[in-house]
Amino acid sequence: MGTGLTADERERVEADQTESDSAEGAPAELDTAESNTVKLDTAELNTAEFDTAEFDIVVAGSGAAGMTAALTAAHRGATVVVLEKTGSFGGSTARSGGGIWAPGNTVLRRAGVADTPELARSYLARVAGEDVPAELRDALLEHGPAMLDFVLAATPLRLAWVPGYADYYPEAPGGLASGRSVEPVPFNGSVLGAELARLNRPYLPVPRGVAVTQADYRWLTLGPRHPRAVLASAKIAGRLARSRLLGQRMLSLGQALAAGLRAGLLASGVPVWLDSPLIDLVVADGRVTGVRILRDGKPALIRARRGVLIATGGFERNSQLRQEYQQAPIGTDWTTGATGNTGDGIVAGQRLGAATGLMDDAWWGPSIPLPRGPYFCLAERNLPGCVMVNGAGRRFVNESAPYVDAVHAMYAGNAADTPHIPAWLVFDQRYRDRYVFAGLPPRRPLPRHWYTAGAVFRAPDLGKLAAAIGVDAGGLAQTVARFNSFALTGVDAEFGRGDSAYDRYYGDPRVRPNPNLAPLDRAPFYAAKIVPGDLGTKGGLRTDARARVLRPDGRPIPGLYAAGNASALVMGRSYAGAGATIGPAMTFGYLAALDLTTAPGASGNELDNP
Ligand SMILES: Cc1cc2nc3c(=O)[nH]c(=O)nc-3n(C[C@H](O)[C@H](O)[C@H](O)COP(=O)(O)OP(=O)(O)OC[C@H]3O[C@@H](n4cnc5c(N)ncnc54)[C@H](O)[C@@H]3O)c2cc1C
Repeated sequence: MGTGLTADERERVEADQTESDSAEGAPAELDTAESNTVKLDTAELNTAEFDTAEFDIVVAGSGAAGMTAALTAAHRGATVVVLEKTGSFGGSTARSGGGIWAPGNTVLRRAGVADTPELARSYLARVAGEDVPAELRDALLEHGPAMLDFVLAATPLRLAWVPGYADYYPEAPGGLASGRSVEPVPFNGSVLGAELARLNRPYLPVPRGVAVTQADYRWLTLGPRHPRAVLASAKIAGRLARSRLLGQRMLSLGQALAAGLRAGLLASGVPVWLDSPLIDLVVADGRVTGVRILRDGKPALIRARRGVLIATGGFERNSQLRQEYQQAPIGTDWTTGATGNTGDGIVAGQRLGAATGLMDDAWWGPSIPLPRGPYFCLAERNLPGCVMVNGAGRRFVNESAPYVDAVHAMYAGNAADTPHIPAWLVFDQRYRDRYVFAGLPPRRPLPRHWYTAGAVFRAPDLGKLAAAIGVDAGGLAQTVARFNSFALTGVDAEFGRGDSAYDRYYGDPRVRPNPNLAPLDRAPFYAAKIVPGDLGTKGGLRTDARARVLRPDGRPIPGLYAAGNASALVMGRSYAGAGATIGPAMTFGYLAALDLTTAPGASGNELDNP
């Protein structure tokens, strides 16, 4: 596969070449301090000693954004390489739930989800807000479905609607209570052969070959006695038995997504170089023409005839950048994002004068700092029989609110006299007896080391619990008494918990009149420490609707593209629905590849499905 550049394209490339201003606005020094961070000491690198290689397109980062882009570019006839810093591919994508939010796609249409482009447009406008340029929002909505059609055609991946997983603001104009999220159908990872061993590990360990989907998870949280949980367990057991018979290794969630994309790359002959971190961008005549990398510890120069895509994820694992850009208290201990995500690509773009945005924000979520790592609470806050309180023992947010909003409320309220960090998720024995909690089946005692680590507490009454966690006892007693009265009426007069279809998705339908509200009245009582965790950061390089990296004045940096969490994402400060990080990451990766491989003036030219 050659460059395939037409005379017109060559002209455009040349026209794009502007005066070199590559060092404008560059931070003077980069010292990202984390063990995983590559020290960008380019002065020491001598180009003459480099191994060199040349491709049409270089993609840095092997998550959803990078692999979708590389696949697209390869199918457009370009030569492309994916560079991955760590020893495994898939980044946070492989750790994730694998949900994809891309309104109007074929899978949703086939599932009968009633939606229109107008509804999706007004919803995204409301949710993403004014900060996000309309052209970015429109690009996501316009190209997301074509991107998914392409991925479905070019990989063994199959997707299914997650029934009823409501948009996170389903009552907003254009929001859908039925949901717009799709997820991978369990996928046989054996098709990857030896490459399967290099798939990044999932966030929560699952026994080998057990494939649980998002749709299953909703019911499993309700405990083994709920009929839908029984059904989900039977399905999972059936899947396991069948795959064992057939010698398959089933994967689900983000494992399936990353493996499916990787399978597409294998079939298309796209190399993925592991242990090959991007160190720096190479500029010639005002255009990004390649990258400096380390390959197996040795410097190398990779030329990119058409351009470079930064898809290196966020900077959640870089404590220095977090402290520089984000609100205290912050660090790297509470994130569930991939270990390689230290913002290298963002920093490299900044050195070329790229604009950044949303650096103070993240895909936040209330999380329990368990000894093995943070546990990101998904269903736990929605299930009835718990409240989340601050240091005054008071509720401060609808516990079931979308996870980004819940953490925004933690930071907004945090004050020396009334800490909201940590907050406390307080629940009673009935809640513990009924529901799965932080991955533990109902009734199972919480592990002793969770107590010794100070992540959870238990006491025979609320007063003793308050004393143990250092929360105002009178405040907690009043809060629980008031909350218990809400549970009787079914109306949370304080924060409206259970009003939204999103709250109710992870509620318990057996509990009436409100599936999110039950009294806390059965001793002993428990408190889990809640910190502002995240799935990764969401700020990064500013880009346009073609995923081109922009300078502060809005001009693109020729040859440089960004997608996924390395870019300032199209969701603004919000989270439209399950999959609202991966959907845009894949779509803007796809758009970057279209632009990098499209003849001048032909933008919007979608890929013909192979
Ligand atoms: C537990 C969990 C559950 C989640 N569930 C969902 C969900 O269901 N739906 C959803 O939309 N989002 C979900 N997310 C968030 C989502 O996974 C991420 O936002 C998304 O995968 C980011 O994709 P990406 O391609 O930008 O980055 P990543 O997938 O993180 O990939 C970036 C890659 O770049 C590599 N890299 C970093 N620096 C360099 C360098 N210098 N050179 C080369 N490579 C480099 C990293 O090692 C990494 O492999 C979840 C996240 C987690 C942790």
